[in-house]
Amino acid sequence: MRLPELTELVARLGLPKYRAVQLGDALYKQRVGKLEEITTLPTEVRERLAAEGYGVGLPEIVQAAKSVDGTERYLVRLADGETVETVWMPGGDGGERGDGSEAAVEEEGEAGDPDAVETALGGPTHRGRAAMNGAPGLVAARRKDQYRDSDSLSQNDDRKGGQSDDAIGASADGYKRATICISSQVGCAVNCQFCLTAKLGIKRNLTAGEIAGQVAAVLNRQHVRIGSGKGVETPSRINLVFMGMGEPFLNYDAFMQSVHVLRAMGIPESRMTVSTSGIEPSIRRFAEETVRPKLALSLNASNDVVRREIMPITRKWDIAALLDAVGSIPLGKREYVTFEYVLLGGVNDQPEHAREVLALLAGMKAKVNLIVWNPGPGIDFQQPKPEDVSVFHRMLIDGGIPTFTRRPRGRDIFAACGQLKRTVDGPVEPGLVAISAAPAAV
Ligand code: SAH
Ligand code: SF4
Repeated sequence: MRLPELTELVARLGLPKYRAVQLGDALYKQRVGKLEEITTLPTEVRERLAAEGYGVGLPEIVQAAKSVDGTERYLVRLADGETVETVWMPGGDGGERGDGSEAAVEEEGEAGDPDAVETALGGPTHRGRAAMNGAPGLVAARRKDQYRDSDSLSQNDDRKGGQSDDAIGASADGYKRATICISSQVGCAVNCQFCLTAKLGIKRNLTAGEIAGQVAAVLNRQHVRIGSGKGVETPSRINLVFMGMGEPFLNYDAFMQSVHVLRAMGIPESRMTVSTSGIEPSIRRFAEETVRPKLALSLNASNDVVRREIMPITRKWDIAALLDAVGSIPLGKREYVTFEYVLLGGVNDQPEHAREVLALLAGMKAKVNLIVWNPGPGIDFQQPKPEDVSVFHRMLIDGGIPTFTRRPRGRDIFAACGQLKRTVDGPVEPGLVAISAAPAAV
């Protein structure tokens, strides 16, 4: 429930208005997990709420895995026992650069540099410090502060050796920052051929509370206090990406409701990015919203023939229809739409594809996030060659499109893009730590 809904509830129960504010504080600021924890409410009020069928609850983190890069992947259990995955990325995911959001402006400093290149290719042979400092062949146009950011991050990781729980890491500007990647559905119906989540099929939509609840559960686990109020020693900058399991635009109402709840929790929509595989009617609804996160569209192919092969949903809404819908979104002065592009070796990563992407995006306020495909069991694609990634990236930059190659996070623990696949029943998979062997019933 959002604050207006809490206010209605309180009025319906004949309680004074300030009770709604107390409820809001408990839910959004203290992020309580139980009705009994709302000690500002007299016992009778709590009992009354429970008798009326109202409950307070948070999804429970039942397993956790920590990557060498500090990323943590959580298996989160919902009230009915279904599970989804949520990812915590201390230091941000770098993907926010160049999209005109507040987060991007901070990342870029005063003068946004369209030539800045996020150089890390990562992957099994490039991981760690070498990856942070860029792969050979890519133009490193990062400014000094960006080097410093990366350096301090990798030093942190080295020093902590993956043991510390407070991996959020304060940066040079005195802020702690992190990105949380959240799920919107149990599984996914869209069936993209390169994505592990697709293998689950769709189980159900998450509720708004379950979407926002993932964030609350993770912030509680990380002891993050949002805002600069009393008791907050180091203010936190939390970015959210709706890029976990599921297609948020096929669960549109709950997704948008969660955006409002998350704002109440102190995270502005300018720090949120929603990624869609391209559900045209929802993109058009999104364009009408007065409060909305940033949009990322998973383009992933430079023409409909290739896109139909790898994203069958293209049969329903083709690239032209999607770009037209995206073009209807009124953008702020410094705002860009992000186009994600998963590079699949030999499929969509050649110079002719880069030329087609440039033609598609000509005239749009677009930036491109290249994502090196992350492999998964039973998925028959190849990773792109590092030199093909470099050429592709360079061609887009030369064509005037701000382009970033996303640094893969948590690949060793299967937390990177497209690797989220709920692990239920059976033994705990390698890399996952069961933190609650026999979790209490929710
Ligand atoms: N369903 C939404 C959001 C979740 S997927 C969407 O598809 O946009 C988030 C991003 O991960 C998408 O851009 C998707 O194309 C990408 N992705 C999926 N599987 C991947 C994989 N195996 N490797 C790299 N990126 C992948
Ligand atoms: Fe669903 Fe996104 Fe995976 Fe496609 S890439 S199957 S839309 S989660």
